[in-house]
Amino acid sequence: MTNTFKLDHNLDNYEWESRCCMGCAMCKHGDWIHVASDHNFSWICPEWQWGKFDNWGACGRTRIINSLLYGDLEYTDTLAQEAAFRCFSCGGCDVSDKRNLDLEILMMNQSLKVAFVDRGFGRPIHKQMIATLERTGNYYGLNQKDRKNWVASDIKVEKKADTLFFVGCWASFKDNAVAQATARVLNKAQVPFMMLDNETCCGNLQYQTGHLEKFKSAARFNLEKIRATGAKKVVASCAECYRNLKVEYPKVLDFATKDLGFEVLHSAELVDGLVKEGKLKAKGKMSMKATYHDPCSLGRLSEPWIPWEGIRTGGDISNSGWGQIHPRREFRRGQFGCYEAPRNLIKAIPGVELVEMLRNHSNSYHSGEGGGVYEAYPETAQFASDWRVKEAGLTGASAIITGCVHSKFMLNGALARVQNGINKVSHVIELVDEAYNK
Ligand code: SF4
Ligand code: SF4
Repeated sequence: MTNTFKLDHNLDNYEWESRCCMGCAMCKHGDWIHVASDHNFSWICPEWQWGKFDNWGACGRTRIINSLLYGDLEYTDTLAQEAAFRCFSCGGCDVSDKRNLDLEILMMNQSLKVAFVDRGFGRPIHKQMIATLERTGNYYGLNQKDRKNWVASDIKVEKKADTLFFVGCWASFKDNAVAQATARVLNKAQVPFMMLDNETCCGNLQYQTGHLEKFKSAARFNLEKIRATGAKKVVASCAECYRNLKVEYPKVLDFATKDLGFEVLHSAELVDGLVKEGKLKAKGKMSMKATYHDPCSLGRLSEPWIPWEGIRTGGDISNSGWGQIHPRREFRRGQFGCYEAPRNLIKAIPGVELVEMLRNHSNSYHSGEGGGVYEAYPETAQFASDWRVKEAGLTGASAIITGCVHSKFMLNGALARVQNGINKVSHVIELVDEAYNK
């Protein structure tokens, strides 16, 4: 069988995945080299670990998609709930599958959500939040005029600069400490930066919950605004904004990340470079044993987008050309995500010891905030956060450092439920601000 195939969000394109999946279930687990020492922390799929049944995970989802595509199952609200929308879109299954087969499992998961939304089976809470975003410019329904209230009098923002700080809704309205720390560190390192007038949401929930056309509009709108500023670099401290600007906007609008017209950097990447250039020097000494949580959006999901269209052959027993791909393509397997910059920053602070969790780098386990799961199924999201904090406690650390405002929120929430010696969760830019600025 021959399949002309384009990497996009049309579920029909993943019929090959639905046939080629061999049911090995490795997409439930992280890389055994890292996780085999403790079965409790071997899972990479939080959805499956919560539900313990294969409809809540990629290996069962491939079968369900096959049945949908061949008309053996119908799109229903029950199926939407039980086979699509509890997926965190964390990409753990995708990197695990690509150790074996190079199937496009995350694209398939996302396309299933799009297919359900297109048939009217989106989750009501997601629809409500998206309506609020369309009305107000942010998911919380807050006044856009208050978006820059976090800018304290000691923070210097330029009208025009090469660097644009894309703050994001969460840091603008809910976690001002991260926005302020980012701005203060840039000021300290003498990196002039500007911000957008009336910045609006990057559209993360729209993409992650299958509202593809709405997300495309957000992508076009934000790209036009950013390009009009002439910025050469766009820096974000929210890993979701970072991923959307760098990866998902090019993906849904069908071009390569390298053609964005500007460079997208996480604040950890920018600041790591500044520390190496000697533009920031730590003041005094801290005393802390910390572990680092790799946010999925900063790690395995952050590799540059490379469009691809071509032919895939095989996948059934009558054809010996199983798995052949023309033209050859560069696969994104998660190994080139942003992993070292935040670790370098933590290790450069005198008195801070970094210890690793079992699941780290591309094997990271999800924090619980993603895919719209926290909004629709908070019990599943909190289950994931609790397991991540349990794992962090095993390292003997007292603090979790992360690179995303959303991970920080979820892991902080778990501290009250899991009391195991972890008493602090910080964004890496806050730690840098504390060590270099105060
Ligand atoms: S999706 Fe990949 S890793 Fe998961 S069961 Fe199928 S072949 Fe195995
Ligand atoms: S994206 Fe994450 S939550 Fe969804 S099936 Fe894959 S590993 Fe599980």
